[in-house]
Amino acid sequence: ARPKFVAGNWKMYTDLAGAKSLAAAVAKEVGSSSKVQVAVCPPAPWLTAVADAVKGSAVVVGAQNCHFEKEGAFTGELAPQMVLGAGCKYVLIGHSERRHGLGETDDLLNKKARAALAAGLHVIFCIGELLAERESNHTESVLDRQISFGLADVPPEQMANLVIAYEPVWAIGTGKVATPEQAQAAHAFVRGKIVEMFGEKVASELLIQYGGSVKPDNAVTILHQPDVDGALVGGASLKADSFLAIVKAA
Ligand code: 13P
Repeated sequence: ARPKFVAGNWKMYTDLAGAKSLAAAVAKEVGSSSKVQVAVCPPAPWLTAVADAVKGSAVVVGAQNCHFEKEGAFTGELAPQMVLGAGCKYVLIGHSERRHGLGETDDLLNKKARAALAAGLHVIFCIGELLAERESNHTESVLDRQISFGLADVPPEQMANLVIAYEPVWAIGTGKVATPEQAQAAHAFVRGKIVEMFGEKVASELLIQYGGSVKPDNAVTILHQPDVDGALVGGASLKADSFLAIVKAA
């Protein structure tokens, strides 16, 4: 059976003191070993402080983005090695706020994912359709494109370090959570696509998180669908109580 994995994406929220205390509260409750894998993804300037705050606990840290080059004249960017050096295990790649807000393309995200994996980072690769795409029955073709281009040429042996987060864009920050049936159908489609690209074994071990308005009161049903292996939580990850309630529900 696959383990459950709950990650908090803090986006561009928290100040330094708030980030440290939120991380410490999560780490304290999760403790030194946990059945559910738990990660927090703070803003880049707080990564080292948050990594310190969770030290000794089972909570791991992720960055929200990285560049595909090892170093260079890329003002404002973070190299995968820098993310590792800041104490991170994970990096989010392809979040919808970067795809749609900042114009990141499938090709760019493919470069980022491959570079991050090659550097030894674990990747949470985010995909998901817009409302108009769902309403015009294009959900599966969008997911198909995001996966086939996004994960092209990823070495199969590195797929063990990759998690997919299915985040329907219309459910992010809207309070409109996907139904458990919608989530399960999309996750099953994603897993089938991974079978095609990487084979049965990789696909059966792949963790697929659901993201989009996950809250303590809707977490249980959604997290117990057969192909839902956890959650990527935005708003509800900014309060220790609600984030920990979702971890508990997993
Ligand atoms: P919300 O949980 O705030 O809808 O955000 C989801 C998300 O984008 C996590 O990456």
